[in-house]
Amino acid sequence: MTSRRNFIKSGIGAGALLILGARRGMSLPQAAGTADSPLKGLRGNMGTFEHQGGTILWLDSGDELVVVDTQFPDGARAFWSAIAPKGERKIDLLMNTHHHGDHTAGMSVLKPHALRSVAQKNVPDLQRQQMKQSGVKGEAVTADELFETEWKAAVGKENVHAWYYGPAHTSGDAVIHFEHADIVHMGDLVFNLLPAYIDRSAGASIFGWIDRLETVHKQFSDSTIFVYGHGNTGAGISGTRADLLVMRDFFTALLDYTQKGIAAGTSKDDLARIEKLPGFPEHFNEGWLTAVPMNVAAAYEELTEE
Ligand SMILES: [Zn+2]
Repeated sequence: MTSRRNFIKSGIGAGALLILGARRGMSLPQAAGTADSPLKGLRGNMGTFEHQGGTILWLDSGDELVVVDTQFPDGARAFWSAIAPKGERKIDLLMNTHHHGDHTAGMSVLKPHALRSVAQKNVPDLQRQQMKQSGVKGEAVTADELFETEWKAAVGKENVHAWYYGPAHTSGDAVIHFEHADIVHMGDLVFNLLPAYIDRSAGASIFGWIDRLETVHKQFSDSTIFVYGHGNTGAGISGTRADLLVMRDFFTALLDYTQKGIAAGTSKDDLARIEKLPGFPEHFNEGWLTAVPMNVAAAYEELTEE
């Protein structure tokens, strides 16, 4: 518990700040193998890349290259110069976990290098909707191949398998599994040891989210490596399926707190005037004080909607 508290004290991931529209300078993380590479090895020929925004997961066999998520254009360019220093490579498969700009805005940089691009079928419309809502000019760069609930392809020796289980963080969240490496990109279905961003304007559902986390937890094993869109600075952006149940427990506590408040006649504003959930200090993050109030407001809206 002490170490977990230290994680919380160490501050917040850049991704969470970006969701709130804040910006700050970030140095590239140190790689596992080479001191100056931003590519961090995970298992086999796969690894992660962090810059600003949602984590990129990559597979690089030497021949084949698979990329999940693209960050913002700056991050996409930094990733591309690290993975393809001579610029002559092709991406065999480029996938989106969901539509948020910190995961898809870099499509403008990476899609021209991609032979195939894949997303859940709601993602392109959600990308366009988000750009309109946030006043971003230009055309959304979207994936070419769309799937409804399940998609699978072989790339070299690896099988890539994606599922959509229904609304959770958005209404287009893909869970993407690399079968041989046994690595799953959860997108933003896990904010590792952080409160969540619940995008109701994109069809989010807290009840659905709890269900997805339990489904995916059952689907994989303790040896599966999970990669998350965002993580507390100390806890990081990868882990095991146990993290999924921590996120689930956060939502259960969130709904419980909010439901009790509604039953007692407390207003949404009064309920949202908290910085951490009662009985759930693990998820309190001193670097993101507005997160729990936003989560409570989203829970209130979901619990009181017709
Ligand atoms: Zn997101």
